Amino acid sequence: MPAPLMHIESSPSLPREADVVVIGGGVVGVFTAYYLARRGVSVALLEKGRVAAEQSSRNWGWCRQQNRDARELPMATKSLGLWEKVAQETGEDTGFRRCGLLYLSQNDDELAGWAKWRDFARTVGVTTHMLSAEKATERGKATGRKWKGGVFSPTDGTADTSRAVPVAALGIMAAGGSVHQYCAARGIELSAGRVSGVVTEAGTIRTTTVVMAGGAWASSFCNQLGVRFPQAAVRQSILAVAPGANGLPDALHTARVSLTRRGNGGYTLAISGRARVDPTPQQLRFSREFVPMFARRWRSLAPGAFEGWRQGHESLRKWVLDDVTPMERNRILDPKPDMRQIRLTYQRACGLLPELKRTAISHAWAGYVDSTPDGIPAVGEIEGIPGFILAAGFSGHGFGIGPGAGHMIADIITGSEPIVDPRPYRPERLKTAAWGKVAEF
Ligand SMILES: Cc1cc2nc3c(=O)[nH]c(=O)nc-3n(C[C@H](O)[C@H](O)[C@H](O)COP(=O)(O)OP(=O)(O)OC[C@H]3O[C@@H](n4cnc5c(N)ncnc54)[C@H](O)[C@@H]3O)c2cc1C
Repeated sequence: MPAPLMHIESSPSLPREADVVVIGGGVVGVFTAYYLARRGVSVALLEKGRVAAEQSSRNWGWCRQQNRDARELPMATKSLGLWEKVAQETGEDTGFRRCGLLYLSQNDDELAGWAKWRDFARTVGVTTHMLSAEKATERGKATGRKWKGGVFSPTDGTADTSRAVPVAALGIMAAGGSVHQYCAARGIELSAGRVSGVVTEAGTIRTTTVVMAGGAWASSFCNQLGVRFPQAAVRQSILAVAPGANGLPDALHTARVSLTRRGNGGYTLAISGRARVDPTPQQLRFSREFVPMFARRWRSLAPGAFEGWRQGHESLRKWVLDDVTPMERNRILDPKPDMRQIRLTYQRACGLLPELKRTAISHAWAGYVDSTPDGIPAVGEIEGIPGFILAAGFSGHGFGIGPGAGHMIADIITGSEPIVDPRPYRPERLKTAAWGKVAEF
């Protein structure tokens, strides 16, 4: 069964024009439209399937500063504050709690890495606590093991992946924007070289500003406009267990397995970073750009299957705007989970936390995690196409920083002081090789 997800109704009709059209109803697109609508900008959000049905409901739900790359940390910090406000602003619970994140380890090098990050975090005012062996063992008592050490980040938290993004989408409509599910954007119309409209499967919307927040579909969409966006996705498999286990931490990372308490009292279980690489035409096209990333992460990666080719999100094909496109043929990217890994994850989790043996697997799913070559999102207006803003490549970190990213994009569009410095995210940086620039975590 795929990841649980709250259902929301769409707006009744597609507008003929809008100040801004946002393509993609994941966390990034939804929060962009949310902050625009709340400023009185007329905005339409297009989602080819259901809001949050791809990566944005398939993830762990961690909203973390801990171990963030310096380029992303300011956005992570701002996002935590924004997550807190969404519930007040919408009157709906997103499940966000600053429950703190617990990391436990038996490995000296890993502990040294976390201590190094703690020293850096201090310089930018972020608090995180290194745990001695005694304190780590105490905090990790549900494991019944002695630990060499750990780290606890008290101001980080988690949100409920089954409802957080749909709740924010309801907030778009409450603020006067519109949300259109099962409505794919087929392409962009240009007049005199700048954006003049978005062609959807249900008609054209006149606009001068488009945000492409299509997650794993962004590069193939950009390719239609002749824009080269190096992006690749890997398939991660993950599972949820039903409620029934007591006394476990809300969010725990260990090298062998990690767990997160879900909104319903069950737990999400996963092996951090473990993924399969499914070859696709797009991966072959950008393979050179991703060598530095692969050199850093290869230990966690395993060869995949033709699953990715079949899904069509990384096609290099050019399509026409008056016929059905790959986005309409695949409303929800729902790749097959790696069942061997699902079993291994559950086995490891029950070994680490025997209390989990009282539960059963309720859901197992996979998600394609879309990444840039340096592991930092690509956000900004594309050179040479005024009005076309790219916001994709969130590289496995986008859920937690989605509110900050959406706020920053709304700031750029409305000419306000950006909530964080947008320069580290400029898509143009991807024209140079990522050697020495791949995000650490
Ligand atoms: C297993 C897993 C664990 C993760 N854990 C975490 C975590 O703990 N914390 C964290 O911060 N991040 C985590 N992530 C990463 C995070 O989920 C993503 O970075 C984030 O959700 C990306 O959001 P997005 O809006 O860019 O893309 P998505 O959520 O993928 O949304 C893109 C949307 O665009 C739509 N779309 C695409 N093209 C079109 C089109 N032409 N017209 C209309 N709609 C279109 C798609 O249907 C899709 O719904 C994890 C990811 C996975 C898979």
